[in-house]
Amino acid sequence: MQDNNCIFCKIANGEIPSATLYEDDEFRVILDLGPATKGHALILPKNHYADLYEIDEGTAAKAFVLAKKMVARLTDILGCDGYNVVQNNKEAAGQTVFHFHMHLIPRYKDDKCGFGWKMGKLSDKDKEEILAKLKG
Ligand code: 5GP
Ligand code: ZN
Repeated sequence: MQDNNCIFCKIANGEIPSATLYEDDEFRVILDLGPATKGHALILPKNHYADLYEIDEGTAAKAFVLAKKMVARLTDILGCDGYNVVQNNKEAAGQTVFHFHMHLIPRYKDDKCGFGWKMGKLSDKDKEEILAKLKG
């Protein structure tokens, strides 16, 4: 289940070399070429799924368990103070490589990484609309 035009398929399956932190039958974990902070890594499944909409539940669950293990190990190695685990889906959400991946971004006190968003305020209208649609 690979896509011949997908760079992450080639990296995950070892056709293109990468700085690999971990590998098993289903996943490869690599250092990101454009790191937000020192140690920024990506979890790549070896099979091709474009995004969270496409990935099967079993693989998604394993990816998150692997994220937990990598974050624990890398926190020791890097001496970082925290972690962001980020996963973008579709262009509108900032996805640029359309092969499912999870970002593991180490955070260091005062790293000025700039990752985050401007907080809004939950309106009664949005809250009621969303809850009503979910129940309906
Ligand atoms: P997205 O924006 O799709 O969530 O994240 C794509 C990530 O892949 C970016 O952080 C980018 O730096 C990284 N990236 C893109 N191409 C390559 C590559 O060829 N090798 C590695 N190691 N990272 C890449
Ligand atoms: Zn792929």
